[in-house]
Amino acid sequence: MEIEALLREWDGEQVVTRYDSSTNTWMFVCIHSSRLGPATGGTRMRVYPSTADALMDGLRLSAGMTRKFAVVGLPFGGAKAVLAVEAIPAGERRRRLIEAYADLVASLRGSFLTGEDMNVTEADVDLIGTHGPYVFCRSVAAGGSGDPSPSTALGVLHGIRASLEHLTGSAELRGRSILVQGVGAVGAHLAELLAADGASVIVSDVAADRAKSVGKRVGAQVVDGDAVYDTPCDVLAPCAIGAILNEQTIARLVCKIVAGSANNQLATPEDAERLLARDVLYAPDYVINAGGILQCVGIEALGWTRAMLDERLAGIGDTLRRIYREAGSDGITTNDAAERMAQARLTRSEMPTTSR
Ligand code: NAD
Repeated sequence: MEIEALLREWDGEQVVTRYDSSTNTWMFVCIHSSRLGPATGGTRMRVYPSTADALMDGLRLSAGMTRKFAVVGLPFGGAKAVLAVEAIPAGERRRRLIEAYADLVASLRGSFLTGEDMNVTEADVDLIGTHGPYVFCRSVAAGGSGDPSPSTALGVLHGIRASLEHLTGSAELRGRSILVQGVGAVGAHLAELLAADGASVIVSDVAADRAKSVGKRVGAQVVDGDAVYDTPCDVLAPCAIGAILNEQTIARLVCKIVAGSANNQLATPEDAERLLARDVLYAPDYVINAGGILQCVGIEALGWTRAMLDERLAGIGDTLRRIYREAGSDGITTNDAAERMAQARLTRSEMPTTSR
C-alpha cells in the first residue's frame, strides 16, 4: 500500500518522519493517541521489505499500545517508533544512528516516550536517555528499572492462574501441564515460575540448545517446534513470535487455554472466533503481557514501590477474569471484550480507581 493511503486510513494523531542520510535509515514516530496521557511505546529496528511496510508496522503497533495502556489502566497514550534500516548496524554506525534518533526523540519534548523493542537494546535506550529524559526501561545502572521480562513473566503467570480458575474453578498449577513456546527472556522466567509452583512444564524453542538447557534446569519435557500445536496440554503459553494462531494451527490445538506473552498472537481478527468455536479460552495478548510496561512506567514514572508493582501484576489476573466474565455473558470473543474495555476507557476516560 502507498504511504498516502496508509496515513489516510490510520486513526492516529501524527507521524513524525526523519530520513537519516548518513545511515540510509527512515525513522517513523507514530503517535496514535495522547487521550489518556503522553504517547508511549517502544522503538523497533528492522530491515523492512519497503518504507511503506515500515510505516505500516509502526502505525499498527502504535494503535496496539493505545489499547494496552487503556486496558491496563495507566495514564499514558499509545505510540511506536520504527527505524527502517538497510542492515542491523553495529559499532560506530549503530552509535551514530541511535544518536540521530535520540535527537529526534528529544525534539518532541516529551510528547513521545520510548523504550526497547525488537533489535533495540538496553544500551541503546541508555544512550537515548543521555539526550533527554524521554525513555523508559533504562538499565538499573543508568537509573532505570532494568530488564522488564521477569515482570512480564510474572504477569503471564497471574494470567494463566486466572484462566485456569475461570475454566475449572481452581487456579492451582500443581498437576496442570503448561507448554511454553519460546524460552527466551520471558519464556525462560515463566517456565521457572511454573515449575516452582508445581506445574508439569513442557518447553519448545527454535533454538534447540536453549530449549534443552531450560528444560534441564526446570525439569521440563522438550518438544520440537512444530509439535507444539499437536501436544496435549492444559495451557499453551506462546512466548516467541506473533501470528502463531491461524486457521491451520488452531485446528490442531490440543489445549483448553492459550495464555502467553507474545505480541500479536492472532494472525487475523477472525482467529479469535476460531478459538471460541473450538472452546479454547484465549487470554488477549496485550492484556496478559502488560507486566513489562507496568514495571517500567510504574516504577520509573509513577513512583511505585515493588509491592505496588506486585499488586498491579496480580491485577492482570483480575482484568482477565472480568474480560472472561463479560465475553461469556455477552457471547463475544475475549478479544472483543478486551477491545470493548479499551474503547470504554478511551471514550469516557474511565480509568480504574483502585489498583486491582
Ligand atoms: P526473546 O527474543 O528473548 O525470546 C524469544 C524466544 O523465542 C527465543 O528463544 C527464540 O529462539 C524463540 N523463538 C523464535 N521463533 C520461534 C518459533 N517459531 N518457535 C519457537 N520458539 C521461537 O523475546 P522475549 O523478550 O522473551 O519476548 C517474547 C515475546 O513476548 C515476544 O513476542 C515479545 O514481543 C513479547 N513481549 C515481551 C515482553 C518483555 O518484557 N520482554 C513484554 C511484552 C511482550
